[in-house]
Amino acid sequence: MATISLGGVIATQIYWVTKAFNLQEKQFNDQVQLALNDVVKNILSINHDTYSISNPVKQISSNYFIAQINDTLHPYLLETLLNQEFEKRNLKTDYEYVIYDCFTDSIVFGNYIPLGSEEKNSLAATSDTMEWNNDGHYFGVYFPKKTSYIVSGMGIWVFSSALILLIISFFSYTIAVILKQKRLSEIKNDFINNMTHELKTPISTISLSSDVLISENLHDHPERLKMYAQIIKEENERLKKQVDRVLQMAMLEKEEIQLQNEKLNIHQLIQRSVNSMEPLIKKADGIISLNLNAKNDFVFGDKVHLTNIIFNLLDNAFKYSINQPNIAITTENKNSDLLIHISDKGIGIPLLHQKNIFEKFYRVPSGDIHNVKGFGLGLNYVKTMIELHNGNIKLKSKEGKGSTFTITLPNINE
Ligand code: ADP
Repeated sequence: MATISLGGVIATQIYWVTKAFNLQEKQFNDQVQLALNDVVKNILSINHDTYSISNPVKQISSNYFIAQINDTLHPYLLETLLNQEFEKRNLKTDYEYVIYDCFTDSIVFGNYIPLGSEEKNSLAATSDTMEWNNDGHYFGVYFPKKTSYIVSGMGIWVFSSALILLIISFFSYTIAVILKQKRLSEIKNDFINNMTHELKTPISTISLSSDVLISENLHDHPERLKMYAQIIKEENERLKKQVDRVLQMAMLEKEEIQLQNEKLNIHQLIQRSVNSMEPLIKKADGIISLNLNAKNDFVFGDKVHLTNIIFNLLDNAFKYSINQPNIAITTENKNSDLLIHISDKGIGIPLLHQKNIFEKFYRVPSGDIHNVKGFGLGLNYVKTMIELHNGNIKLKSKEGKGSTFTITLPNINE
């Protein structure tokens, strides 16, 4: 409804502005015709010419007029008369005039009369467009700035059009904000559903395991006792990880991050993350290979966050591999930067989703193909953190083939 009414207002505005412009133009043309008629009359009376010409002024094009006279004419006289008549009618715009000689069939004199100080001669360029297809003595007047002169006389219309434009911009902005909010609220709902689901599984596993511990007498079966205790511990770890992720995000949101920067050896951090991931990868019959080629692997950064970053990327590489995970980490020095490539041969990310992947809560819609749980927060955290370290992260991925995330961090001297 709002769009329709706005469309109506715009259409009405365009209608009235065109109408006002046409009216102003007609007024201008009439004024010029009258002025040139008077100039012709004056010239005839100065030359004591009793022969009167009917309709001496003709409009050749929108901004070009010619007037017929019976005799030759001095340019100075013409200029004076034109100025006089234009002034009388309040026509304050630049003009050019030419005097045509029918005997030599050529323009004998032309001049550009600017209104302001700016002097310019565009006659050479415009005279081509002036057609002289009649015999006799003529002079022509050309208004190069007619349109802008008319527009400048339509102040109120320009003002109201600007106002309407302003209203349209605000309206579009409001609509954009509403759509964005709508998308955000959908995303947040998804997130809440996702999170409850993610938290419910470990909670129910813990509850079941503790039920067993309470109800059964497991003193005689220490291995079972240990197994249930182990399950509780693992599930508790999982819970802690999920809660940590959400907390990390909340912290980023409040911009409360205080980096504890120090000189760090990235290869060490990578090694540590790999060590903690290795049992999981081995369990899935996967491999993880390291090519730590960088000669200088020192950076200035926060140990905890950089470890989280590497861990998040490794975790994704593992999560989004369908069969046995095949993960490789390569480092290299380039210019004065350290590059870390983390690649997998997993499901890959379709091109369509690659630009959104670093947005908060964004997850590639998976359909029924894979069922990996997550909040869509990991990569957003990674990107925000890397940027806080004056670095950047790039993604190269092909659907079905795998993905490579490349982190670039500024090197420091060893
Ligand atoms: P989460 O993994 O918790 O969903 P992330 O922010 O870590 O959130 O990742 C966002 C989305 O990017 C994931 O849902 C997944 O669709 C896609 N993605 C991330 N890493 C990979 C990867 N290595 N291979 C394929 N898809 C990935």
